Amino acid sequence: MSYRILDQHSALEYIRSHPQAPEHLNLQAELVGEEIGDGNLNRVFRVFEKGNRDRSLLLKQGIPYLRVAGESWPLSPERARMEAQALEQQYRLVGDLVPKPYWFDPELALNAMQDLWRHQVLRRPMVERTRYANLGETIGRFLALTLFGTSDFGMEPKAKKALSGRFVNAELCEITEDLVLTEPFEPKLLGGKTNRNRFNPLIADDLERLQADTELRLEVARLKHRFMSSAQAMLHGDLHTGSIMATPPDAGGKAEIRVIDPEFAFYGPMGFDLGMFVANLFLNAAAQQAHAPDPEERGAYRKYLYTQAERCWETFEVEMRQQFANVQDISWSSKAFQDRFLLETLQDACGYAGCEMVRRTVGFAHVYDLESIPNPELRAEAERLSLALGQELIKISGKTSNFTELMDLVRTTI
Ligand code: ADP
Ligand code: MG
Ligand code: MG
Ligand code: MG
Repeated sequence: MSYRILDQHSALEYIRSHPQAPEHLNLQAELVGEEIGDGNLNRVFRVFEKGNRDRSLLLKQGIPYLRVAGESWPLSPERARMEAQALEQQYRLVGDLVPKPYWFDPELALNAMQDLWRHQVLRRPMVERTRYANLGETIGRFLALTLFGTSDFGMEPKAKKALSGRFVNAELCEITEDLVLTEPFEPKLLGGKTNRNRFNPLIADDLERLQADTELRLEVARLKHRFMSSAQAMLHGDLHTGSIMATPPDAGGKAEIRVIDPEFAFYGPMGFDLGMFVANLFLNAAAQQAHAPDPEERGAYRKYLYTQAERCWETFEVEMRQQFANVQDISWSSKAFQDRFLLETLQDACGYAGCEMVRRTVGFAHVYDLESIPNPELRAEAERLSLALGQELIKISGKTSNFTELMDLVRTTI
């Protein structure tokens, strides 16, 4: 059968007739289907056996338009193939940190995978100041293993080129190039293109000042060009806290953590994923300005967030160095080269973190952390913190020499 958009009913019919379904579900049992998609780009269904919650699976289908904009923004369901390919690589490299992939159906642009029904995406719990003691460490390991393992350091050169050729993903890269790395910074676009920024009118002046900063725009142009032309490793491409799921923390504060939604995967600079993750911790720190009116409580949660950013970088660095110890190519074996590469990655992360903070505050797609502040005046206070830190991170990105320096800037700004 050809492409059709599934609904709750047809999703169940689809499962009942799929040859691989019986490996995961007893088709004789009564099956329950529910739509759970809260994403913008796709439909997500879960199907489970009534009375046996552990026997379940998840279907994610790409639809041919961007949901928030209705059918007016067409988008190829091909991105489901990108997600299938990326999930396959991530599962191979860090199988315990992603949902297990079951099958990919190219006709329906659909991925079937493990249903993480005990997990919750991090946005809401983080607004409520839930702490996950192992968050930074887990994402640091995820990044080191997926990035190193798909790079020229971790793959034979011909194999790496063959793999990178399968991750062109031009359409979703264009979304990032426009919405993250161009429009928030440019008051006017060339060629009759329109700017899709959306922002709180109370920070209009702050945005105007930001866009008048030529030094900042030069740095963003450099970061954008690097994003487009630096094919270092297979990135996740959309590693914000809405792409991370965790179980409620146990008595020791630890949770089971997994990364989802790699449809933006492509070959780009490693620092992009790192920067996006830490930026989303800093965005939450800014939003706590309004969510946690008690300064002590606010300070304590921010301290937790900053510790997680530090653990992420430390773990990334340690794991990268461990991987480097086994490289087969003499060119990458010196400590001097490894130091230099890690510094470049840190500088990229710093710059992309800044871009992510700015665009989540004034660009097209916002974050729940800031959007869930109902009072516009209080929201503006938090948004100004985010803009201020975002700008500073972009400006120091080419100069910063260690993560401590970056975190000093974060602590003095927010
Ligand atoms: P989109 O690309 O549209 O953002 P996501 O992959 O982020 O789609 O999925 C949307 C939502 O569906 C997630 O926020 C999460 O709540 C849920 N979800 C996605 N994948 C899984 C999974 N493997 N297990 C359980 N829930 C999931
Ligand atoms: Mg998502
Ligand atoms: Mg989404
Ligand atoms: Mg997505």
